[in-house]
Amino acid sequence: VYNFSAGPAVLPGPVLKKAQEELLDYQGSEMSVMEMSHRSSLFEEIIADAEKLLRELMEIPKNYRVLFLQGGASLQFSALPLNLAQNKKALYVNTGSWSKKAIAAAQKIENVETKVIASSEDKNFTYIPEITQDLIDEDAAYLHITTNETIGGICYQEIPDAGDVPIVADMSSNILSNDYQVSDFGVIYAGAQKNIGPAGLTVVVIREDLLNEASLFAPMLDYRLQADSHSMYNTPPTFSIYMAKLVFEWLQDLGGVPQILQENQKKAGLLYEAIDRSPLFHSPVNKQDRSLTNVPFLTTSSQLDKEFIYAAQKQGLENLKGHRSVGGMRASLYNAFPMVGVRKLVDFMEEFEKAHGG
Ligand code: PLP
Repeated sequence: VYNFSAGPAVLPGPVLKKAQEELLDYQGSEMSVMEMSHRSSLFEEIIADAEKLLRELMEIPKNYRVLFLQGGASLQFSALPLNLAQNKKALYVNTGSWSKKAIAAAQKIENVETKVIASSEDKNFTYIPEITQDLIDEDAAYLHITTNETIGGICYQEIPDAGDVPIVADMSSNILSNDYQVSDFGVIYAGAQKNIGPAGLTVVVIREDLLNEASLFAPMLDYRLQADSHSMYNTPPTFSIYMAKLVFEWLQDLGGVPQILQENQKKAGLLYEAIDRSPLFHSPVNKQDRSLTNVPFLTTSSQLDKEFIYAAQKQGLENLKGHRSVGGMRASLYNAFPMVGVRKLVDFMEEFEKAHGG
């Protein structure tokens, strides 16, 4: 079966095998990682390795801290303005469902002035709006973007220049699949469950000078406290961190981000080519803003979309149904998704097209 699901996770086979082998007895400890104290030397090694590998893969500069937290990217929607923007202005770009949620969370915080400086809502979020310097208030705490909109399938190819205003990015659905430079951002955050590992872990990469001075009313949301506690203020999601470490090792063995980016370009390229040359299928998204990881597409009617999804599933092409808010189909091609699955989808699209007079 090929799983085109947008989430929670599609994990590499070798990683799942390794986790299975080590499930009952981690490196001779006669314990599962799940049973091990998070203060034990074995777990301390796991979390240190996970951080080291992520730093290498993303080339994270020394003046950034890496936090392994919980609560999903959604909790960061609130944590960010609370840590960075109290009594200040927070700027947002609205590119779809996930930016909207981030904006809504910031708007709930009374002493944060939330301002949406650009939006692609006028064209149903099918493009990334241009961000020019004149849109940016120089005294803002940050400019928030969603590097990849998982539902709409649009993605930043270039990170906007906001001058001295730090860019804060929700990178949940394309962290480690695009070659963004960490130094272009003040904060990067991501729910782990697409390219990193199972749900339960949230990664935050934050430039040190952006850590809050005053402590926050809620310790679990306090970036400085979490950084000072080395992500061990409370029990961290130990098993998810262990799985993330295995995924990072897998990715490093493959050749790291440059290599996976090439693979992702090939996978998405094959699918977009098939869509673009088809008389039956089309992509709703502006060509230069297309996502590598989430590819929405449509036939000529919602009835035919349904038939396609049903018939595809019978061929082992699972979870191609688009998000309920946009309809149609969506193929999610995260790092662990194999090329052979994309080929199978493209072949099936051609068959379906012929059967429907294409
Ligand atoms: N942001 C983006 C871009 C997402 O794709 C998702 C989930 O799919 C989220 C945020 C929410 O993440 P979480 O479920 O970890 O809160």
